[in-house]
Amino acid sequence: MRTWKWMFTAALLVSVSAAAQQQSESQPLTQPDAAAAVQPSAAPGSQPAGSDSQSAKSTTPAPTPSALPQPTTMDQVVDRFIEREHGLMKAMANRTPVVETYLQNLTADPQLGPVPSADHYFLGRMDMGESIDRKDYLKEQDKGMETRLMGGFNKLFKVQYQPLGFSWMVYADRTDFDRSHYDFHYIRREFLGDVRCLVFDVTPKKNSGRGRFQGRVWVEDQDYNIVRLNGTYAPAPKNSYFFHMDSWRLNLIPGYWVPAYIYSEEGDFSAGVKNKMAFKAQTRIWGYDLKKGDKDDELTQIRVDSVKDESSAAQDASPLQAERQWQQQAEDNVIERLTRAGLLAPEGDVDHILQTVVNNLEVTNNIELPRPVRTRVLLTAPLETFSVGNTIVISRGLVDVLPDEASLAAVLSHELAHIVLGHNLGSKYAFNDRMLFSDDSTYNNLGFKHIPEEEAAADKKAIELLNNSPYAQKLDNVGLFLKALQARATQLNALLTTHLGNPLATNGTIDRLAALESKGPALDNNKLDQVAALPLGGRVKVNPWDDKAEMVKTAPVAITSARDKMPFEVTPFYPRLARYGASTTQSTTPATAAANSTPGAN
Ligand SMILES: [Zn+2]
Repeated sequence: MRTWKWMFTAALLVSVSAAAQQQSESQPLTQPDAAAAVQPSAAPGSQPAGSDSQSAKSTTPAPTPSALPQPTTMDQVVDRFIEREHGLMKAMANRTPVVETYLQNLTADPQLGPVPSADHYFLGRMDMGESIDRKDYLKEQDKGMETRLMGGFNKLFKVQYQPLGFSWMVYADRTDFDRSHYDFHYIRREFLGDVRCLVFDVTPKKNSGRGRFQGRVWVEDQDYNIVRLNGTYAPAPKNSYFFHMDSWRLNLIPGYWVPAYIYSEEGDFSAGVKNKMAFKAQTRIWGYDLKKGDKDDELTQIRVDSVKDESSAAQDASPLQAERQWQQQAEDNVIERLTRAGLLAPEGDVDHILQTVVNNLEVTNNIELPRPVRTRVLLTAPLETFSVGNTIVISRGLVDVLPDEASLAAVLSHELAHIVLGHNLGSKYAFNDRMLFSDDSTYNNLGFKHIPEEEAAADKKAIELLNNSPYAQKLDNVGLFLKALQARATQLNALLTTHLGNPLATNGTIDRLAALESKGPALDNNKLDQVAALPLGGRVKVNPWDDKAEMVKTAPVAITSARDKMPFEVTPFYPRLARYGASTTQSTTPATAAANSTPGAN
């Protein structure tokens, strides 16, 4: 029996009222797998129930921080954080997290300030070991971009961004972070979120070589780990630049702060400045706890789901039941494979909200399906939805930019329509051999695009579903969102390039639910209460260790000018830092995680 749940998800989701806007993400606080953190060989997925920091610390590669005497001079503090930085590199050396960089080139708009003029998207796995081995999910990659000029880009004929360059700043210096290459100057104490830090300026010594870190580091004052780096590299090699970066780490495992977010920005729009290049970029790192995607490994990981006994009644399946079980198997295979590749968040908080919205659509349309509709979050930024069997998948980026619940309902209704219309009955993925591929070729091996006729039918059905739903009165907002998307569609080609599902727009024109675009008032930047679309990063935060996604809770911030709206734009990161296991006032830590917290980690 489904119940009518009127949208109290609104409290979570529509916290952006007309005059308010979300800020960038805050700190993920869910509990990572402590054991796997310091015992890289530990089986992933093993729960840290009994394996708390005590057992973990005994195998910590670097000396256990709390066992060492507290430094008494700033020189000792410097020695300690240098040592901790090397300890982190060692602890992370066999991790291969997912790295995503989304970059927007900027141009000056007299009314809106710097606005996106084009965009670029990179997704890959990063080998945290010393040798840089770049693996990309994306089909077409310019091999020429893979050079040793990490952290920079070539200036030859056109600006070429180095995909891995943006993640280079996970460490200050991979090889020579020491006193013989750098000078360290203590500046002051400062809080970052809940964490008190010591701030140091770091400058390379003369003749210490090219591409040395130059900037500032924040060091937490308990175990003396670097929690933030801000600066650039110098001097730059010939014909290339190093860009500026602000790199943040999160205390997701006991004793270590792991690289999570990097914001990069270049460009000066002051009067008289001739800007040659201007961009801003967000780099996100997640999937630390994923298994290393090594070929042999891939094959041994494939599990054939034969253990489950589905036959509660000891009967043979009828042909129709067999068909449905077969489809279920295909769906389960795909969802499991995408999760294992680090592309889907495990089922969690955000899904409850998505499912409530789907439920609202189903109940008001009297939809009864033989199998329940499930939802999952795709962890990537490009705006896309797709569905596999009865599972609707929506990307993190799309949830981020949607202004309200009605708009969320609209994008979900299209996928629900595919399910209702029986468009998702393909079952070729029920054969397990089709799941045998390496993580980085996921996009080559899976795809859920529909033919144009099915797309049109799904849109038509979606509008019918919406018109019968509680969202019927709020379709003006959906219209506004589509207008905002249309206004930026040409410039945001990479954000609108989907990898698994059908695109929302092609060649700069909205396809999805285009009939709703005429709804609502005209787009007007001067109307400060008209928020048609949000910046990226304001809604969903992902725990980089275990990939769990949850809704961000930020206090509303008043919009004071058209420049504050920043629809679909990249903004700096300002995560609220907290220590492992600590709960903050803004904490969204589930009760179970809080109960597991280790006092020793504080
Ligand atoms: Zn579709």
